[in-house]
Amino acid sequence: MKIAILSREPNLYSTRRLVEAGRERGHEVDVIDTLHCYMDITSSRPTVRYHGEELPRYDAIIPRIGASITFYGTAVARQFEMMGTFNVNESVAISRSRDKLRSLQLLSRKGIGLPRTGFASKADNIKDLIKNVGGAPLVIKLLEGTQGIGVVLADTAKAAESIIEAFMDLKANILVQEFIKEAGGADIRCLVVGNRVVAAMKRQGAEGEFRSNLHRGGSAEIVKLSKEERETAINAAKAMGLNVCGVDLLRSHSGPMVMEVNSSPGLEGIETATNLDVAGKIIEFIEKNAKQNANRTRGKG
Ligand code: ADP
Repeated sequence: MKIAILSREPNLYSTRRLVEAGRERGHEVDVIDTLHCYMDITSSRPTVRYHGEELPRYDAIIPRIGASITFYGTAVARQFEMMGTFNVNESVAISRSRDKLRSLQLLSRKGIGLPRTGFASKADNIKDLIKNVGGAPLVIKLLEGTQGIGVVLADTAKAAESIIEAFMDLKANILVQEFIKEAGGADIRCLVVGNRVVAAMKRQGAEGEFRSNLHRGGSAEIVKLSKEERETAINAAKAMGLNVCGVDLLRSHSGPMVMEVNSSPGLEGIETATNLDVAGKIIEFIEKNAKQNANRTRGKG
């Protein structure tokens, strides 16, 4: 098969591993820099051009689109879908997953376990917003944040009010969330491929840190999932329409709660912690599923 990886970073661990896993299995794999693709969308025959030439027909693309280029990256992925190329994660699903609030709404529609979450644009009902998610301590998150930046734990209702007011004053979009204390500063990253969890790791925050992000000094180890956790991760991926994703869960007294679904999950942390060939699983998924016009939306999104 002929596979293209849409990535700005050919040297990144995840990109390199996907290339390696594809070639090991006898496929032709190209890394295409997403921002250097350009498109002819006026013609009835959609194409993607790259460095002055039309790109060849690929059997499948693997979009690895960073949060900073979601708008252009999803447009490029959509163009491939219009051409009938199999896209592992459809552009609409990537767009959904990039909006934390929209994601939580979609997950809640499907009855998937979530921390109680509130969202408001005006500061006039802050007390009620706080009460609604169960009062302090609570977590306040910037909608645009990644890697744990902009995730704040407010110990008291007073502190929560001041933080919410300050963020709103800066016109930042935030959500207010029940604090899952019993998670103990840890979360579970489930790597879903198709309708299976192919690897899972537990990330533990550094001493005294409630955020488990590896970028914040957290550590990771392999973990065994319960049936309920496994099903929650798979259902979350389905609700988002993603074939390959990282589902982050918190272990709460009332069962697994989904925090986030990531459409371009990094492979380094999970492959290192679990010693599993996640890249290979992604290529195997493509082998089984890549057909012309096999995507659900085919660029309609
Ligand atoms: P980001 O997308 O920036 O990583 P997250 O929403 O994943 O932000 O939050 C970062 C970390 O903070 C999580 O991995 C988790 O360990 C912790 N965390 C986030 N929300 C909660 C919560 N409601 N209760 C307990 N811990 C939380």
